[in-house]
Amino acid sequence: MNAHESALLEDLNDPQREAVLHHGGPLLVLSGAGSGKTRVITRRVAYLVKVHEVFPWRILAVTFTNKAAREMRERLVQLLGRQANDLVVSTFHSSAAMILRREAEHVGLTRSFVIYDDGDQLNVVKRAMREAGLEQSMQPREILSRIDQEKNQARLPEDMEVEPGDERGLLVQRIYHAYQERLRAANAVDFGDLLLLLVTLFRKRPEVLENYRRRFHHVLVDEFQDTNPVQYALLKQLAPPPSANLVVVGDDDQSIYRWRGADVDNILNFPREYPGAKVVKLEQNYRSDRNILDAAYEVIRKNTRRMEKKLWSDRPAGQTLQLMLNRDERMEAQEVARQILALQREGFIKFSSMAVFYRVNAQSRVLEEALRLARVPYTLVSGRSFYDRAEVRDASAYLRLMVNPRSDADLLRIINTPARGIGDTTVERVVDHANTRNQSLYEVLAEPGLIPALNTTAVKRLRTFHGLLESLHRYAQGTTDAASAVDEMLRETKLVETLVAEGSDESTTRAENLREFLGAAQEFDLNRAAAAVAAASGPRVEVPPEVDAAPLSADTPPLQAFLEQISLVGDADAEVGEGRVALMTLHAAKGLEFDAVFLTGLEDGVFPHSRALKGEDPDNGEEMAEERRLCYVGFTRARKRLFVSLAQCRSLFGELRYNPPSRFLRDVPPKLFGISEQDIPEPPRPAPMAAPRKRTWDEDDGPRIDRSYSQTSDMDGVSGDVRGMRVRHEQFGVGRIVAADGTGPNAKVTVEFGGAVGLKRVIARFLMPG
Ligand code: ATP
Ligand code: MG
Repeated sequence: MNAHESALLEDLNDPQREAVLHHGGPLLVLSGAGSGKTRVITRRVAYLVKVHEVFPWRILAVTFTNKAAREMRERLVQLLGRQANDLVVSTFHSSAAMILRREAEHVGLTRSFVIYDDGDQLNVVKRAMREAGLEQSMQPREILSRIDQEKNQARLPEDMEVEPGDERGLLVQRIYHAYQERLRAANAVDFGDLLLLLVTLFRKRPEVLENYRRRFHHVLVDEFQDTNPVQYALLKQLAPPPSANLVVVGDDDQSIYRWRGADVDNILNFPREYPGAKVVKLEQNYRSDRNILDAAYEVIRKNTRRMEKKLWSDRPAGQTLQLMLNRDERMEAQEVARQILALQREGFIKFSSMAVFYRVNAQSRVLEEALRLARVPYTLVSGRSFYDRAEVRDASAYLRLMVNPRSDADLLRIINTPARGIGDTTVERVVDHANTRNQSLYEVLAEPGLIPALNTTAVKRLRTFHGLLESLHRYAQGTTDAASAVDEMLRETKLVETLVAEGSDESTTRAENLREFLGAAQEFDLNRAAAAVAAASGPRVEVPPEVDAAPLSADTPPLQAFLEQISLVGDADAEVGEGRVALMTLHAAKGLEFDAVFLTGLEDGVFPHSRALKGEDPDNGEEMAEERRLCYVGFTRARKRLFVSLAQCRSLFGELRYNPPSRFLRDVPPKLFGISEQDIPEPPRPAPMAAPRKRTWDEDDGPRIDRSYSQTSDMDGVSGDVRGMRVRHEQFGVGRIVAADGTGPNAKVTVEFGGAVGLKRVIARFLMPG
């Protein structure tokens, strides 16, 4: 065994090592939470490269969220150095997007296609319904969700299984068809298409697929339990049964995306799909103290259809779980804030090692308020929120039109933003005209004089608007970085100017968001430049002539690549901020770990969700089973401390409810909470506000925030210290720090580089002491 080999294997247990050493062919690693599945994937990739000398570009590793992909990549950079750059480590969606862009011509798109999000999709559905004269037939939302489901199942409109006589089904099929045509005409795809179009292309054109099979000799998938049929179809194409080198790792107990079409059976049936697959089970949990693990097991074992597996741990029993019984949701939030501060102060747990989970997004508002009041620094991990803001979406719409002016949904979004006197009636006439001519809106706007029933002012305004888009489009074709395109767009459209002129607090914040958007583009360019430098500096290995080993996104122009990154920011992708408590939904918590976890809202009707309580026999329903798995995921994120909280009455979605304690609480033996049987909370009394609170758990005098130990953010106050420091940047040379925003490697720092470079805002991690 050489030094590389032993370094990669030494801190693995026997079955983990077996998985890493597996000689080839399909492999399933099936095991409970925190047993090192993700560790096995990263180690195996490193082992293949270092010991078996597999070229990194031959390896495709797929994970569930961008955040997980980023963490895996960082880990691999530590293990492999610059060789890690040639690996493809990404989510299903982003690897599919990269491949689809390379092959766009085969599916009736151009390389500059844009990716529509949920809001855009809904507009396209509405438009398709209107054109077909079916506006009143069904709710557009419902149609969209049916279309998404079909896509998850890898079915195009013609593949839909509609029973004869199923009127609604036929309707969905018709609109689905029109919807797809609209997307193609706009040179756009939705999320589902990224996978579906690729799978369909590979089916029809085996020679295209063959290129990728020749390239990727190793495919590895984390969180395999949550793959849906279309993702699985893609895997089977790239790594076909029975003998491809496909490694999948997962846990049937953590399958929580059934609502997105994921199918637990994928993992249970894997050995049948890939006969002869090796199966490795990991049984030792390294993450959680035993009390936490035991509680999680008691919850999950109630599910009937699961592979029995019990994890063991040689970690200490640790502290008991802590039950927090509160009068209402406000008090719950205050108690969470109070406990967080106490843990930080007395328990020596960093804010960044704590997390607060909730079942539905709406719970976050009250929690946020309480944390803010208690001055607990936190980050809301809800990913899309920044890019979902109206002004940021307007800016993205303009950018997308810069690369693809045919994108009607984007054009409609900003045709009168900022206000330029183009009214609804005018817009309707433009749309009707485009429909009759079967052209995109951009195309018909080139000759607004031909649009019927418009007065001269309207024609003039449309002409000016078209001129704006045309010049932006031209600019985009010549640009070599994303930031200058964003800058140009913001200037030409006067988006920021208009907001600043409005002068309200609200509009000022929105203007700031747009500047932050420019910051995001700058950050993107810098990352890209750094990656290019890293890639160019390594020795290139020889590539067999028949294999295309170029990075998948190699020739995506920067602006497109930036837009792609924005489009693919998923639910769980926001960075967990340094020095901040993470707030997130349970769904977003998958794969993560924290020293202390607060699980809120443990009430029947909140968690488990009210949806799962309906029906004849809720305890045996699939929905309840999924809620239970979600609870298992939540519990097993905690390393040392697990707090579960509930409120006797709760306002949620504008309604006051008195929910009984969650049934999941009753599954946990009281001793794991350090209490006796009679102390388990009872269902609420009729007048819960007046009900005396039981004081069976560790607490002092009720809800209050003690400001004496309030903390300011770790990030505050340090910025000044670095001012004036001399630094060096790979691209810009030597300069001095003028200002800093935040601390740590991701802080944004403004540096005066002098000479032609001048003032630049860069990310601290790209700087070296000068
Ligand atoms: P999940 O099911 O939640 O995704 P997982 O099975 O992927 O969990 P990992 O995240 O890989 O588990 O590992 C859990 C923790 O245990 C990590 O902190 C990891 O570094 C640690 N760990 C895994 N294997 C070992 C080992 N052999 N020795 C020491 N620590 C380990
Ligand atoms: Mg994992």
